[in-house]
Amino acid sequence: MLGVAYEEALEGLREGGIPIGAALFTRDGDLLGAGHNRRVQEDDASVHAETDAFRRAGRRRDYPDTVMVTTLSPCWYCSGLVRQFNIGAVVIGEAENFHGGHDWLEELGVEIVLLDDVTCQELLGTFIAEHPELWNEDIGL
Ligand SMILES: [Zn+2]
Repeated sequence: MLGVAYEEALEGLREGGIPIGAALFTRDGDLLGAGHNRRVQEDDASVHAETDAFRRAGRRRDYPDTVMVTTLSPCWYCSGLVRQFNIGAVVIGEAENFHGGHDWLEELGVEIVLLDDVTCQELLGTFIAEHPELWNEDIGL
């Protein structure tokens, strides 16, 4: 499942954007929607990887049986999305480049799987080193 999110991150990088990808799956592994950060591409600060994947998944009655897979620990905005819609689990590629709200989600009973994936760390880490201004803009520094 992380592979789908990672491919989205690469697509974002190819588009000139910030390489963070996400995908929403059912617990059974069916893909509902995938997306990536489009802050640069769409000139829209609200299009994070998780919100993009969520919107592309369309409407759904409820979300406890879904899994949000993301290449990076979700920021407060995306952690709020997980909380708001009661998404049951979050699988995270890495939390080295950015430690978002996943501890808070875990306290609220959301299942958290942190993979410490080196490939995800390197993709975003390289981008941050090359484009610190875009990265600081994205995380609000
Ligand atoms: Zn976010």
